Amino acid sequence: MDDLNYQIDFLTAKCAQLTNSEKMYRLICDSSDRAYIYQNLLDNTISTVSNWNYFFDFEIKEVKDLTEIFNAIEIEYAIPLREMLNLEKTGIENNSTIIKLRNGKTWVELSVTVIYDEKREPTDKILRFNDITKIKNANDELTYMAYYDILTGLYNRNYFVRLLADFIRDAEKKKDIIAVLFVNIDEFRKINDAFGMVIGDEVVQQFGQFLADFKSDNVVVSHFNADSYCIAVYDPVGHRSVDIITTAIYDRLKWPFYMSNQQELILSVSIGIAEYPEAATSTLELINCAEIVMFKAKSLGTNSVKYFDAPILQDYLQNISIENKLKEAVFSQNFSLNFQPQYSIKGKKLRGVEALIRWRDQDGKMISPMQFIPIAEKNGTIVPIGAWVMDESIRTYAEWRKQYNYPMILSLNISAIQYAQEDFIDTVIDTIGRYGVNHDEIELEITESVLINDFKEITDKLHVLRDYGIRISLDDFGTGYSSLSYLKGLPITTLKIDKSFVDTILFDENTKVITESIIYMVRKLGFETIAEGVETEEQYTYLESIGCDGIQGYYLNRPMPAEDIEKKVLCHL
Ligand code: C2E
Ligand code: CA
Ligand code: CA
Repeated sequence: MDDLNYQIDFLTAKCAQLTNSEKMYRLICDSSDRAYIYQNLLDNTISTVSNWNYFFDFEIKEVKDLTEIFNAIEIEYAIPLREMLNLEKTGIENNSTIIKLRNGKTWVELSVTVIYDEKREPTDKILRFNDITKIKNANDELTYMAYYDILTGLYNRNYFVRLLADFIRDAEKKKDIIAVLFVNIDEFRKINDAFGMVIGDEVVQQFGQFLADFKSDNVVVSHFNADSYCIAVYDPVGHRSVDIITTAIYDRLKWPFYMSNQQELILSVSIGIAEYPEAATSTLELINCAEIVMFKAKSLGTNSVKYFDAPILQDYLQNISIENKLKEAVFSQNFSLNFQPQYSIKGKKLRGVEALIRWRDQDGKMISPMQFIPIAEKNGTIVPIGAWVMDESIRTYAEWRKQYNYPMILSLNISAIQYAQEDFIDTVIDTIGRYGVNHDEIELEITESVLINDFKEITDKLHVLRDYGIRISLDDFGTGYSSLSYLKGLPITTLKIDKSFVDTILFDENTKVITESIIYMVRKLGFETIAEGVETEEQYTYLESIGCDGIQGYYLNRPMPAEDIEKKVLCHL
């Protein structure tokens, strides 16, 4: 009896276990995004399990009902589906594929398992349907992000590089040409600063959308980075010639872009163009060349186009080499100074000297300040270099002053970056104070381009310097905006007429008239004029006859080392 009881208990327990696991099984199946088809291949019975109606609105009761599935999926997935349904004929145990339902939005992973007996005869088959729509969409988004730039909808940099590589492979075989256009929005930082990043983004987006119109099988348009776009044109002829594209771009830029905040913006862009195979034969080099010429175009002014040529690359490479050597030179203070005398025109009395920096690089080669100062301004090394010039020249001047007691004016070239430094005034006053020189014997030169950027801030600083008694000289006058009207508001003491005027003053009537009126005006305003680059006696005589106050130039002296200046001073004692 006990035995029987035991048997009953055991069976009940087993039964309970079975119902529990069945319950659990049902729960799991019903709540999952899955459905199963179980097929007995021996007696050809078939049944569906779990969430079948989640996927399909028909039932499968017999094997022939399987054909219904073909009607429920997008036609291009019919072949993989057939392979799955016939898997047992291949002897393969497991396989899977992805199919898309005809409802247009559900992606299903279909996996199949076939069970074979020991004779390798198929006995059972299970087909699993798994909804992977979420994963697939997330994946598509990732794929999209891998190829496209979200802001503009254009190809991104990485994908552009790949497509350009494809172009190059074709062009190599067919001996074709590819043009790469590097397009950069001018003064983009100013747009961002003035209107905020949201408008900045909108600018990038709107201009990108405009560029998208050039897209075709042979033209790839990409948003390369912040304010740059890259366009690759395969076989740039006819309607896709570079001229047609650049003209269309500049035509569009004649009209404003309308921002969502009602702002109207006129944009300008610089374009650099490099062609395969002339400029470079590899993808990255080609893009690099186009970018380098774009910078060159930008330096020529807004809205300009520049084609690649070998000298531009040469220049660029040289600049990089100078830049590297420059950092080293700043570290080892590898500079020296020359001084060029300035004379008053009446009686050729020594008025003062202009300090001019000299740099001999490690290889012993002299590099002109015209070449390295712009680079130093770009990479910031002008700040320590300028501080060295100021210290060294004022120290030298203080020694002459003590030794010969001959008062002169020491002129210093000061770059825009130096004027912009917060502690600029302190540095000047400290240095002058350290060597005990009179403030009115120091003259700071400034070019018009410095004033254009931050007129108010710089003129405020000039006024403070002027209040200390320091002289201010406007250098290279005539090469920039050269408006006489704004001179009135500037605290300057000297105006330097640029060499380009002096060069043509003897034979060009216009130059004569302009120079004469400058000198007349400047005298009226009460400051002095110095003509630069005077090379001949005739120029000197003419300048004297029109009332110029001073001259500087090879006619009287070239720039020279400090010891030679001492000799000049001695002559004037
Ligand atoms: P700049 O201030 O206009 O200096 C005058 C330049 O013209 C000097 O060239 C000088 O040697 C040259 N020059 C003077 N008289 C004549 C002449 O009769 N004929 C000819 N053909 N040239 C003449 P340099 O020394 O090569 O300096 C070039 C430029 O480099 C300077 O132009 C100035 O803008 C910049 N620079 C020189 N030293 C410094 C410096 O210490 N700091 C900064 N920020 N810039 C400097
Ligand atoms: Ca100067
Ligand atoms: Ca000058």
